[in-house]
Amino acid sequence: EAKKEGKNDFRFFTDDLNTKMHQRLALETSLHHALENNEFLLYYQPQVDTATGEIIGMEALIRWQRADGSIVPPLAFIPSLEDSGLIVSVGEWVLETACRDAKLMSDKAGRDLTLSVNISARQFSRSDIVEHIAFILEETGLKPESLRLELTESLLMGDTESTLERLHKLKELGISLSIDDFGTGYSSLSYLKKLPISELKIDRAFVKNVPENKSDAVIVNTIITIAQCLDLNVVAEGVETEEQRQFLEKQKCPTFQGFLFSKPLPLEQFTKLLPSPAAKSQ
Ligand code: C2E
Ligand code: MG
Ligand code: MG
Ligand code: MG
Repeated sequence: EAKKEGKNDFRFFTDDLNTKMHQRLALETSLHHALENNEFLLYYQPQVDTATGEIIGMEALIRWQRADGSIVPPLAFIPSLEDSGLIVSVGEWVLETACRDAKLMSDKAGRDLTLSVNISARQFSRSDIVEHIAFILEETGLKPESLRLELTESLLMGDTESTLERLHKLKELGISLSIDDFGTGYSSLSYLKKLPISELKIDRAFVKNVPENKSDAVIVNTIITIAQCLDLNVVAEGVETEEQRQFLEKQKCPTFQGFLFSKPLPLEQFTKLLPSPAAKSQ
């Protein structure tokens, strides 16, 4: 009897595995088509001066608009893009599109806005990544100083010689580097000193419950202090309330990003948030 049950369990297990594998392949196939059919698009979320509310830049965030019009969020397909290697081509598209859009936005605003782009580990590992980024900057006319790459702690901690070399080359080009979701990974503080980075992004998970939650308040405060001491910029992610913004302002966090100011928006709507230079001088 027990044996019979065991067999059934095994069959259920393999059926389940088959279903998962099938779903995974189906998703990969759809993502191939998505790239071919231009179904990816970029949203932009403003990064603002905590004290004045002025927009100083934006983060490009990918979306997948399916043929039926529905919008798929990145966490539902980025892992599959990574597994299949498609992230390399999609990442190229993201960089090129975002740099072109950012050039337009800076021209419209009459000042330089900083564009932040997320780079996945697999994408960063291609050997010609630096040359590729340099080429895109040249092609789009965006200044290297206006581009900031958001890298994860795990990418940075996989500290091979080539990673470090690439980071230094990017910095030499004038591009700045940011550690995304800071505090959620395993970075050791000694790395912060060694890596040519210029910004820490405080993960949304820590910002969520400030100022009420005392340990989160201490963590946020500590990250801001580390950034100040190492002369790094710091951005708080996921700011949703005025209380959170006030807390950050008091702690001297210069920049934030979050629904309080704006959700990520399609280019056209984002552009409407930018005061035009003409309007400013009136
Ligand atoms: P991330 O880089 O940490 O981006 C911030 C995420 O927090 C975005 O989610 C943004 O919409 C969300 N967010 C910002 N402010 C708030 C807020 O006030 N409240 C809440 N609840 N959420 C807020 P999104 O757009 O779904 O992106 C999720 C993740 O997908 C990103 O996290 C990033 O890791 C990845 N991703 C997005 N676009 C790209 C891309 O072009 N390339 C790569 N490699 N990864 C990307
Ligand atoms: Mg990011
Ligand atoms: Mg982040
Ligand atoms: Mg995050």
